[in-house]
Amino acid sequence: MKILVINSGSSSIKFQLFSMKERKVLASGLIEQIGEPLGKIKLTSSHSKEPITQKLVIPNHEHGIEIISSFLINSKIIKSLDSLDGIGHRVVHGGEFNESQLINDDIMQEIIKNTSLAPIHNPANIAGIKAAEVEAPNVPQVAVFDTAFHQTMPPYAYTYALPYDLCKRLHIRRYGFHGTSHRYIAEEASKILKKPLSKCNFITLHLGGGASAAAIKNGKCIDTSMGLSPLEGLIMGTRSGDLDPAIIFYLERVEKLKPYELDMLLNKQSGLKGVCGTNDLREVQEKMNNGDERAKLAFDMFCYRIRKYIGSYYAVLGRVDAIIFTGGIGENSASVRHQSCKGLSHCGILIDKKKNAENSTHIENDKSEVKILVVPTNEELEIAKLTEHIIQKNNNKIG
Ligand code: ADP
Repeated sequence: MKILVINSGSSSIKFQLFSMKERKVLASGLIEQIGEPLGKIKLTSSHSKEPITQKLVIPNHEHGIEIISSFLINSKIIKSLDSLDGIGHRVVHGGEFNESQLINDDIMQEIIKNTSLAPIHNPANIAGIKAAEVEAPNVPQVAVFDTAFHQTMPPYAYTYALPYDLCKRLHIRRYGFHGTSHRYIAEEASKILKKPLSKCNFITLHLGGGASAAAIKNGKCIDTSMGLSPLEGLIMGTRSGDLDPAIIFYLERVEKLKPYELDMLLNKQSGLKGVCGTNDLREVQEKMNNGDERAKLAFDMFCYRIRKYIGSYYAVLGRVDAIIFTGGIGENSASVRHQSCKGLSHCGILIDKKKNAENSTHIENDKSEVKILVVPTNEELEIAKLTEHIIQKNNNKIG
């Protein structure tokens, strides 16, 4: 099976083409600055060593998909986009969908409805789906939602303590995000531990530009740190994570900030950047090592928040088989992992300094009761796997 995975942003399309039998990437690329005066492309295939890079006008997503199609055909990887077995689309907000969906008119309407919950992300994802439908009308298209993995949370974990009827009417609840990543690393960790996922209790930590934690009991998500939107929970590059909602009314009253300015403040000017001026953890660490006190504060706050979530998810799970780190920060920053697990020896959580410094898969020491793992995430492969699963399920139904 050949599955194309598409991740559309408002002005970008990222893609990977997988041969599912060998779990091999046949081609990948990034189309950027769609709709701007000059766009950029970078395309790589397994048939050539050097990537193709070019600047050209890319007026819309449809044109972006055409570029991908011509590239795949010219590289002799496929005969036409219509010869693909499936196209899997990352869709950020899936509302209450608990699994990926074969896209038809009804599903498309639901995705459009969920736009009010993800006003920036879902319209971009929809543009990608529509463009792919034009270029490959006969290929099954699957929507893979960032939220679906978290739909197993119990009501007491996903309900906000606000007027119940209001929440029901406006669909206000905890949804959670980064679901494909949490699912993927949980599956990989169960393989590493040689224990069926249905028997595993994990705390998963996706620490990248955005960051989230999940509590996984017997392979199913029972709580996660992001909520109605990806703003809640851990401290992130530019997002505040948890805060007292009264701060918003205070800023409105005293600073006279408008709703969209507050949105910008909390989403784009807060987090690591808000505290020390940079959202890149590598730069935060560098500044901190050069004696910058604000960078040290940002780093300490970042890790302290993670430690609090580890503690609360430990309480929720009772028994923890493993804590799993992933994402650009989780996979690479030994200091963040060290600082986040510091002082948790009473919970049986003990890091091995040397293994941690080497970014080994196992970074717990011999006395640690809880395994601590570093597992690189692969959201694209997870989207391809889920797309394959949905297509096969549908074929069986028809057959
Ligand atoms: P995104 O969420 O945008 O996909 P990534 O998962 O790539 O982002 O993570 C980006 C973050 O990872 C940045 O804060 C970056 O500084 C951090 N990062 C990447 N490599 C390292 C490293 N070697 N050490 C520390 N932090 C790193």
